Amino acid sequence: MEVIKADITKLDVDAIVNAANKQLKGGGGVDGAIHRAGGAAIMEECRDIGGCETGEAVITTAGELPSKKVIHTVGPVWNGGGKKEEQLLASCYSNSLKTASENDLKTVAFPNISTGIYGFPKDKAADIAIDTVGRYLEAHQDIEKVAFVCFDDENKQLYEDRLT
Ligand code: ADP
Repeated sequence: MEVIKADITKLDVDAIVNAANKQLKGGGGVDGAIHRAGGAAIMEECRDIGGCETGEAVITTAGELPSKKVIHTVGPVWNGGGKKEEQLLASCYSNSLKTASENDLKTVAFPNISTGIYGFPKDKAADIAIDTVGRYLEAHQDIEKVAFVCFDDENKQLYEDRLT
């Protein structure tokens, strides 16, 4: 596992993960950036898929992006913690990696799911992300590298504190 500060749309990895919404209709934040940079082909496949439940993941082409595929997962909206937000966020990470495994994708980059517009506390989200990915990698040898792509300094510091 590694931490980097970058724009996820620029990364040449097998799969980048999108923090999508249930309608898979695009939006702000990292979702908007991925659709803008990847072009219309991603949205066409999203439309055909139709939607995605919170905590689950679907896969599409990466269009014009340098990665091979985009895995779209829907993070929970933070509602105080009593709505299974923590389990659902963990499911986003594990289901995204399961989707990568099933599609023979070995290098995966995650954004800090739910910590933008969806308001999940960043420190808790970092704990869940690292714990869930760590467990998955221990149990599955096929994934070679996972990058946590931090867009802001606060998230980068939280991940570095936990991983180094
Ligand atoms: P959510 O709705 O799941 O909270 P957001 O897109 O609002 O999704 O935020 C998720 C995280 O993605 C935030 O930490 C935000 O800073 C980050 N982010 C926004 N744009 C990019 C980008 N181009 N590359 C990587 N991370 C990004």
